[in-house]
Amino acid sequence: MPRSRSPSVAPTFAFGGFADRVIRWQLRSGRHSLPWQATQDAYRIWLSEVMLQQTQVAAVLGYYSRFLERFPTLSELAAATLDEVMPYWAGLGYYSRARNLWACAREVQTHYRGQFPADPALLEALPGIGRSTAGAIAALAFGRRAAILDGNVRRVLSRVFGIEGDLTQATVLREVWLLAEGLLPRGQGIGPYTQGLMDLGATVCTRARPRCEACPLASDCVARIENRVKELPHPRRRAARPTREQRLLILRQASSIWLERRPERGIWGGLWSLPELEISADVIQTIRDRGLNPTALQDLPVIEHGFSHFVLRAYPVEVQVEGEIKLGGVDSGRPGQTAPQGQWLDLADVTSKALPKPVAELLRTFCRESGACDS
Ligand code: SF4
Repeated sequence: MPRSRSPSVAPTFAFGGFADRVIRWQLRSGRHSLPWQATQDAYRIWLSEVMLQQTQVAAVLGYYSRFLERFPTLSELAAATLDEVMPYWAGLGYYSRARNLWACAREVQTHYRGQFPADPALLEALPGIGRSTAGAIAALAFGRRAAILDGNVRRVLSRVFGIEGDLTQATVLREVWLLAEGLLPRGQGIGPYTQGLMDLGATVCTRARPRCEACPLASDCVARIENRVKELPHPRRRAARPTREQRLLILRQASSIWLERRPERGIWGGLWSLPELEISADVIQTIRDRGLNPTALQDLPVIEHGFSHFVLRAYPVEVQVEGEIKLGGVDSGRPGQTAPQGQWLDLADVTSKALPKPVAELLRTFCRESGACDS
């Protein structure tokens, strides 16, 4: 098999039997019992592919079945409001996926009479569907010869073919796409082939502990032969993530706390959360400006949460308040942005709202420690 230092020689990579080996291995040793494998329904396959973006299978399983119980068909999802959809995504992270999912369902309902198109190019034009997700839906639901190249598959190809360079760079990625397309099976078997690549990346050629002894590609794998498995793929050059600091206000009146719905765009868009304040803002004055009278104030332990581009360090403050709150939203810290809706909720009921994961954890702890909840 040819060796490579760069994907620019991709067309010479295709070696006999790559697809055959992946297909045979998938049929014999791959995963067969995942809930989205038992169907060719494009709606269910699309939902699984979107949920699995940046999320492990184990974390997705419960969300997937709850979501389908509530929205068993694309038409039911398209007919729902975003507010009805978000609670079924809360905790799964990357919330733009849920907003795009909902927008995509509406577009398919309106422009394709509720049926996903089979053409990968048309799929890719829909909200929230990138090239790899389009390839996966086309291959798994419609049997189309389309390539996938998610993070797991990039890792497998980079090791098997000894591809150097940063796989997130457009020039390198373009060549790897060509390679992925050149490797597709010529005849039958696009479904098990696509699933096989996914399974290999998730269960055998894992990032930290690849099991080369169980790999059908081991005899030709450049990384294994040259003892460079730990080195490939080359890590992405990441800039250090900055830290953003802000306050989170837990406004309390008797057993209730105040929650606000966040603007659709931006971090945690469309979810419910606690009012936020710039770290330097005057807490007492801000609360008075909202028509409330603060009667007691207590700092709570700091929480940190990592986003892809920054780390959020939040300083929660519990404030007992009296009075009637003025609607219009506490300053979100961004000029001109205020949370559009708010609601007093009994502390024991707050987790019924679609909350970001760190806020849900903060409120669960707070509820337990204040004696309002059992667990
Ligand atoms: S032989 Fe090892 S490194 Fe190469 S593809 Fe298989 S599991 Fe990955």
